[in-house]
Order: sequence, then structure tokens, then C-alpha cells
Amino acid sequence: MKDSICPNCKGKTFEIQIKKVPYGTTRTEVNVEFVQCSQCGTIIGVLQTGTVISRLENCTHHITNKFLESNVDKHL
Ligand SMILES: [Zn+2]
Repeated sequence: MKDSICPNCKGKTFEIQIKKVPYGTTRTEVNVEFVQCSQCGTIIGVLQTGTVISRLENCTHHITNKFLESNVDKHL
């Protein structure tokens, strides 16, 4: 198997950078994991795990708030 090579600088070492980027029409910031050349920073690929985890966090937060709101209503 050949080594992976950066198309910009021909470097052979890579790293993962996590950045917050706006998502969708609400422009909610989500974490995106970029695989990039560790020498010049050229982005080679994107991993989906950060986006999925951020969206799950948002859903969990929304559900928790709805649950808390419904419990507050019962006790008033
Ligand atoms: Zn490079």
C-alpha cells in the first residue's frame, strides 16, 4: 500500500482539526473534524463523527428542556 501524500506540498503526515462551522438554515454551529496535512494545512477529508455528536447533543438538550417544561407545568 502506498503512503498518503498531500496534493499541495507532498507531505506525508496528517492531523485532525476540530472546528466549529455553521450548519443548515439555522446556522447552528457544529463540530466538524477535518483531516489535514500537518505541514501546510491543506484539507484532505472530513469526518462525520463530530457533526453527528453535535446534532445528538442538540437533540438531547431540546428533549431535556421539553421534559423539564412539562414537569414545571404539572407542579404549578
Ligand atoms: Zn501539505
